[in-house]
Amino acid sequence: MKNCTIDLSSLTPEERRQFSENPGVLSFDCPEACCLYMRYSSDRQTEQSIEGQLRELVAYCLQHDLRIAAVYVDRAVSAHTSMAKRAAFQKMLADSKRSAWNTVLVWKLDRFARNRQDSAAARAILIKNGCMVVSATENITNSPEGRLLESVLEGLNEYYSEDLKQKIKRGNRESALKGQALGGSVPLGYKIEKKKWVIDPLTAPLVEEAFTRYASGETAAAICSDFNARGYRTSKGAEFNKSSFKNIFRNEKYIGVYKYTDIRQENAVPRIVTDDVWNLVQSRLKDNAAAPARGKAKAAYLLTGKIFCGKCGSPMTGEAGTGKGGGKYNYYTCANRKRRHACDKRPVPKDWLEDIVARDALEALTDEIIDYVATVAAQQSEDEISQNTNIPAIQKAIAEIERKIRNLTKAIEAAGTAPDALVGRIAELESQKKGLQGQLKEAQRSVMPLTKEQVVFFLESVREQAVPLESQKYMLIDMFINSVTVYDDEPGYLTIKTAYNLTNLPGKTYRIPISKDKTVFGFDGECTTITI
Ligand SMILES: [Zn+2]
Repeated sequence: MKNCTIDLSSLTPEERRQFSENPGVLSFDCPEACCLYMRYSSDRQTEQSIEGQLRELVAYCLQHDLRIAAVYVDRAVSAHTSMAKRAAFQKMLADSKRSAWNTVLVWKLDRFARNRQDSAAARAILIKNGCMVVSATENITNSPEGRLLESVLEGLNEYYSEDLKQKIKRGNRESALKGQALGGSVPLGYKIEKKKWVIDPLTAPLVEEAFTRYASGETAAAICSDFNARGYRTSKGAEFNKSSFKNIFRNEKYIGVYKYTDIRQENAVPRIVTDDVWNLVQSRLKDNAAAPARGKAKAAYLLTGKIFCGKCGSPMTGEAGTGKGGGKYNYYTCANRKRRHACDKRPVPKDWLEDIVARDALEALTDEIIDYVATVAAQQSEDEISQNTNIPAIQKAIAEIERKIRNLTKAIEAAGTAPDALVGRIAELESQKKGLQGQLKEAQRSVMPLTKEQVVFFLESVREQAVPLESQKYMLIDMFINSVTVYDDEPGYLTIKTAYNLTNLPGKTYRIPISKDKTVFGFDGECTTITI
């Protein structure tokens, strides 16, 4: 059952007035419905007001034939506020599971999360729920390389997914990486020291407690609300929710197992939970496993915002239709055709086109490109950490204290005596240094820079696939494809003109036959590159 009205209570009357001219832009009953996410932070001079953001978002929707099904606003929330504290953002993520919209439209991508790691995590949730994030103002040609790290992180999230673990071929390099912590989040109870997992004495007792309580019959919901009430937070600093416990209870690291793609090593990680407790928890989980929720299956249109009609230049939008036999089909249709019937460009089957575009992107993964992407992504990761954490500031402060200590020590050596005042001052500085080192450790615990080697390794594994895995299509398209323009060719053929995101990849135009049997569309037929 759908809501009959769109909740605009998060907007002021002035802001709401913007809809009076175009009330039709509000609708939840449209396959191309989106939600708006707006955030206004008080700590920036150049910040666009909610009213201003809204104006541009509505204009974008009108231009792209999108309908607005929901509006989420976080007001006066700083860019540095963690995702967990942004109530509207959290609600938007939760709603994405079963909502009428399949696109989150933002004024700028920086509205979305304070850093790319958070953004990637949120986007991974949305993608899983069949939703995309689109920026209304950042033109797809704007600094495309700036989004590389985000794409790589998203890809890495998928890389760890069950599906992929079974499919990725094992390389010799993996043995070198075995037992080492790769980039990504650190599970509660552990921290990383010298690239190895070690027990974190601060949080490991929480893990133990959660397991023991669940094993003895308490519900995850009860443990969850108790943990939150006591002020405990997940490894990412967020409040606990039901799924955080699901992840904790299923994580074999807690019984010492290290898993990396298809490698499974016993006793490779320090154990937090005993086998007895683990087994009890697993059998309870099994009993409690409810039938999977059957949400309305939504198709994620991977080319949203990137695909254009070759006939009239309008954007093409995703559309679901029912075939003669009752089967469901998803297409990309020219927005101009759909809205005003002013264009006769034929619709293009969604999965077929996405497959071709993803395969084309996969071909872009040469050694040179991999090296380039890895260099840029690792650099961005480093910049991210220096801009969004206080690690550099703490390191600077430690260096300054060390310098002072050295100078005082030198002075004492030169004088040949050690006055009490100087000795006391050195002790004071040493204690300050210790405090700062503790802070540094804490700050470093939550972030792991992505290294160039990790990205190279990951992209090489992607390249080993003959065809892109379902889970990698979005990453490939997001990372490499800037725009795709689709032209009707002579009957049975389609011409595709592609512009890539990387400045060192020249655009390409190719034509491919369209198979009549929509179930066997493929790239294997003839494919002629006609211009470069
Ligand atoms: Zn058109």
